Amino acid sequence: MKRINSIEMVETTRSVEQIVQGVLTSDGAGVKLTRVLGQPLQRRLDPFLMLDAFGSDDPKDYIAGFPDHPHRGFETVTYMLAGRMRHRDSAGHEGLLQSGGVQWMMAGQGVIHSEIPEQQDGVMEGFQLWLNLPARSKMTPAWYRDISSEQIPEFATPDGAKVRVIAGESHGVAGAMQREGTEPLYLDIELAAGSSFAGKIPTTHNAFVFIYRGAVSIDGREVSEGRMGILSGGGADGVRVIADGAARLILIAGKPIGEPIVQYGPFVMNTKEEIFQAINDFREGHFAETH
Ligand code: MN
Repeated sequence: MKRINSIEMVETTRSVEQIVQGVLTSDGAGVKLTRVLGQPLQRRLDPFLMLDAFGSDDPKDYIAGFPDHPHRGFETVTYMLAGRMRHRDSAGHEGLLQSGGVQWMMAGQGVIHSEIPEQQDGVMEGFQLWLNLPARSKMTPAWYRDISSEQIPEFATPDGAKVRVIAGESHGVAGAMQREGTEPLYLDIELAAGSSFAGKIPTTHNAFVFIYRGAVSIDGREVSEGRMGILSGGGADGVRVIADGAARLILIAGKPIGEPIVQYGPFVMNTKEEIFQAINDFREGHFAETH
């Protein structure tokens, strides 16, 4: 792990505009999860379309997985904190997503894939984030990348923060993935008791945190375990996160696309006509054609 000698200067911190609890639901063949970011927040948190948090040590909650299903028009980013999940898709790709690793899938014009747990017991915990694509990229060929835990750059600050840089850049450390257009920043931050993290966030970006262990405070407002805090914009150049006790969180930010969002299940396009087209293409088997 890289040691950073000086922390990033944040002159004005973003504050917490709204705290979101998320909704317990199930998806796939019956995987229990919390939908932290759903359709009502898509406009506010453009370019992000969805954030699901999953975490259980009861195999009944996850064992069925996500059998074959399509996606079109966006990217899925799955971050596995603990567990093993096998991915297979219609283009013939296969990969194993393991603890600490990320699968980044650009669904583009369409892919059919399955995500099936490869464990019979133990803890499965992680997140799936959906990142929208601008209209010009929605119908480009699909691709995906498996990023193992070792491939995710990490750094430690003098303030006692350990940071994994999944995407974007923080403190001069480039993340495992860089995406043009939406320029996502995706950090996993571990804070020791009494420590803090300060980092830059581009003023153009919408941003939020999700606390998955402990509690933190941002500009004087507490965000507790299992809650998302939507961060205000307003010209602030970054965020300062303070932890009284030990805490872990993800910090996610991205540049808004500013285009109409029309979602029908696993298809996210700009117009209803494009959704009808996606449904037709899927029914006629076009998603299964190799790209
Ligand atoms: Mn999927």
